[in-house]
Amino acid sequence: MKFPTVGISLGVGLLVAECVAWIRGVLDSFGGGGIWLALLQSLVLYVVVGATIDLAVQLVARGRWKASPILRGLPFVILAIFLHYNFGVAKLLALATIPGAVVWACAVHVRWGVPLAAGMVLFGFSPAFTGAGSQVTRTPLVDSWRDGPSFVLVVLDTVRRDHCSTYGYGRDTTPNLTTLARSGAKFEDAYASSCWSIPSHASLFTGLLPRNHGATFEHFRLESDSRTVASVLAAAGWETVGFSANPYIASGTGMDRGFNRYEDLWRPAVMRRMVVAKQLWARLTGVDQDKGGRSVVDEFRRWLDERDGDRPYFAFVNIMEAHAPYQDAPLRAAFTDPGLSGGALEKIGDLSHEAQWMGTRVDDEHLAPTLDLLDGATASADRFLGEILNAVGDDAVVVVLSDHGDLVGEHDLHGHMTGLYEPLIRIPLVIAGPGIPAGAEIRGPVSIVDVMPTILTLAGVEKPPTDGIDLAPAMAGEISLQDRLVTAEHYRTDRATQLWAQYRSPEEMRSIQARRAAVVGGRRKRVVAQDGSDLGYDLLADPLEQRPFLGADTGHEVSVPTPRDLDAGPVELDPAQIEALRSLGYVH
Ligand SMILES: [Zn+2]
Repeated sequence: MKFPTVGISLGVGLLVAECVAWIRGVLDSFGGGGIWLALLQSLVLYVVVGATIDLAVQLVARGRWKASPILRGLPFVILAIFLHYNFGVAKLLALATIPGAVVWACAVHVRWGVPLAAGMVLFGFSPAFTGAGSQVTRTPLVDSWRDGPSFVLVVLDTVRRDHCSTYGYGRDTTPNLTTLARSGAKFEDAYASSCWSIPSHASLFTGLLPRNHGATFEHFRLESDSRTVASVLAAAGWETVGFSANPYIASGTGMDRGFNRYEDLWRPAVMRRMVVAKQLWARLTGVDQDKGGRSVVDEFRRWLDERDGDRPYFAFVNIMEAHAPYQDAPLRAAFTDPGLSGGALEKIGDLSHEAQWMGTRVDDEHLAPTLDLLDGATASADRFLGEILNAVGDDAVVVVLSDHGDLVGEHDLHGHMTGLYEPLIRIPLVIAGPGIPAGAEIRGPVSIVDVMPTILTLAGVEKPPTDGIDLAPAMAGEISLQDRLVTAEHYRTDRATQLWAQYRSPEEMRSIQARRAAVVGGRRKRVVAQDGSDLGYDLLADPLEQRPFLGADTGHEVSVPTPRDLDAGPVELDPAQIEALRSLGYVH
């Protein structure tokens, strides 16, 4: 058999193998959906790499070297190792498609290969520079409107409260949030309603707990009967806009409900990440990609500059910089050990990212540098917040919070797929702007479900029933929240943690995947779970939740949550969204 024939057979075989693995993974995770476009993207990507490097080699090679399989294959093997040396065996096998594509490229005749490769390079690179791929949904503004405050609601996705300098952390990770807090109200004891983006954002938008809005790990969608802060304000005449870098907080999951304009900006960010040359550049230079923050801030500013009229607005912004993989953070160098090379930091970040979606463990020696990377990621999120605040000025009420935190080895867990521990659900929350008392520090539990009723009260618009309260009296010092209880919920994570079972015992898996609910009040917290556990914590004496006692001894009432009965099949995600989730480690 001649070399090109062998090459084609090998390349096609490897691609088919990866396609099958991919299809199986996606089917397991989401119950189906159109993924052929994503497969095509992957294939084109490999061919772009294959053809480009092969052509470059062909241009410089002379004589008998021109046909040498070693010379033609070597750059691809080096590229594959360089890009993926720090992944596990399974990934290396999947990535064997790159050498497969190399061999395929060897079979391409140069005369036909040049225009083919040029077209593919254009196709592959265009989204990186044009921002193509963002998806905008629009609904018309209502005709009538009246004066009222404008609002900017910023979610710093995955930012841990205890790693914010605003809340006493030793490193200056969030200077812009601190400046904002000085001019407004800082909530010391704010809690998310869950440990993950979808339920938490749905609570932020609807003022409802997950059991009432129904968007959870078990149902990835905010249903159309939901009344959101955006839909109520839009009906009252506000211009409502959203800019999101989070592929879950997107039109595909119903999170664009009520927005006149909603931009899914994770698309260009992910397309950029898919361009191999861009990844290669980042690894060579140490200049890391942002996770969509650049596009979000630029698009937000563009919209703000171009909007006309005095109509009040409500703008929602989601910044993903603090989300794993932590190493992709523009400001990481300020927080990491200068003695560690870029490659070493990539490896540490990848170990942590892998632990989040595979359930593996990270060695103790790698935990400190992982936290350094987390700090760099947090600071990168704060930097984009600073740009937003500069653009807004004093014209709007600004609400900044995170939707949940992240675990970095605490309780033998990583990421935010499971648990209701404090690093996961205790969040930063700052409200500032016209009418908000400067420098207020509010103690006592508040919840993400309080944000919607607070905004609607400030707007002077009638509120639908919610599980939250208006925080204005607390900000004004008129009421105390010391006796209040707040709730967080967690639903079954079977799909999100399906790969954990190879590293965790069946007993652990039962606990990891179980539904659970936490109630926090006073200094005590009670957590009950579907696996029968019922634990209490004294958060003052035991802030790291290391010494649980009998849950009933907290005196708090709480029950395992039952999800709202939602009659809906599996959510269909589009191929680009699936690719985005893969890059974040949600889909395998
Ligand atoms: Zn999130």
